[in-house]
Amino acid sequence: MPRADRQKPEQAPARSRQDAQSPMDARQAPGARTFNFSGLDQKALEVHRRLLEAYGERAHEARREPMHELISTILSQRTNWRNEDLAYRRMMERFVSWEGVEQADVTALAEAISPSNFAEVKAPNIQRTLRAIREARGEYNIDFLADLPVEEGLRWLLALPGVGLKTATLVLLFCFRKSVLPVDTHVHRVSQRVGLIGPKVMHEAAHRLLLALLPPEPALLYNFHLNLLTHGQKICTFSRPRCSKCVLREVCDYYHDPTTEKY
Ligand code: SF4
Repeated sequence: MPRADRQKPEQAPARSRQDAQSPMDARQAPGARTFNFSGLDQKALEVHRRLLEAYGERAHEARREPMHELISTILSQRTNWRNEDLAYRRMMERFVSWEGVEQADVTALAEAISPSNFAEVKAPNIQRTLRAIREARGEYNIDFLADLPVEEGLRWLLALPGVGLKTATLVLLFCFRKSVLPVDTHVHRVSQRVGLIGPKVMHEAAHRLLLALLPPEPALLYNFHLNLLTHGQKICTFSRPRCSKCVLREVCDYYHDPTTEKY
């Protein structure tokens, strides 16, 4: 994957005269901005370091075999983890094998995966994806992606019906330890609020921009993704960011914007 050009160094706002003369030095106030990053890549590493300290480092091990990861990730689109898991289990209990899922009546498949949102769209996409894999590979197996360069693997996955950049990058990072960064809604929101990407950057561009800020080390990218996701679920939530409990306050643009609501 081509790594985007590094962004221009970010200049931390100069401290105002009023700040400088304040009886309590701003650098000692809770959550005060204490960092002067010479580039966004430094800021990204500081975010990563703080989240590692908060949530720990996870071993980069495949949690599911690649076909399971691929189809589960399709089921996870706009669906929480509990319902994704339920949909997957119902599907496999009813149709037993990938062949059974591919050959199933599409309405019956949609009913089986109905805990997942947009089941009526996902059911035909899953069947078309299984068919494409079988026809291309002669079996329901995508282990060959381990040996493909990242760009080629991404292209192959993105050509499958219902597979977008988040699903493709997640499979490549989680199962094959490739240097890509899945950007889900939590990773996207936290990155925007902290200021690693601009407020108008969409998910697809965020993937490229964030990747360019980080070392191309799969284990680091894996932990960065999981920790931002956890942070977005627990602290930097959509409607009520719990800034008072956040380890990123000092480095967060949203927190230092006087016009934003914080909790
Ligand atoms: S300080 Fe607030 S807005 Fe910034 S990352 Fe933390 S919770 Fe989110």
